[in-house]
Amino acid sequence: MKKKCLFCQIANRETPTEILFENDLLVVFKDIKPAAPLHLLIVPKKHIRSINDLTESDRPILSELLMTAKDMAERQGIAESGYRLFFNVERGGGQLIFHLHLHLIGGW
Ligand code: 5GP
Ligand code: ZN
Repeated sequence: MKKKCLFCQIANRETPTEILFENDLLVVFKDIKPAAPLHLLIVPKKHIRSINDLTESDRPILSELLMTAKDMAERQGIAESGYRLFFNVERGGGQLIFHLHLHLIGGW
């Protein structure tokens, strides 16, 4: 059997990663190799490979990812100072983990 997706494992709490926030649709945890003082990953529980693989029925997930990013920035106290949100899409776009995730970086 193929090895299970790392972010599916984290979302299912099959690895010891600390989950900062969770709801029906997604989980939020810290990036293991932060690119900024604060680097969070906002990850849908559903396995979707990348932005390219979204379908119409995934609209609520996408919307929840963005609203959660906004809430997390506020909770972590970086909303006012500012932050960046981004998706890497496929290898050419720098994607290394092929389970959709939104990066939130800030805190400079
Ligand atoms: P990508 O390049 O696919 O957009 O981003 C993947 C991110 O996942 C990278 O920033 C990388 O540091 C992070 N990452 C890789 N493995 C792990 C892990 O096991 N735990 C956590 N928390 N982050 C990881
Ligand atoms: Zn997955």
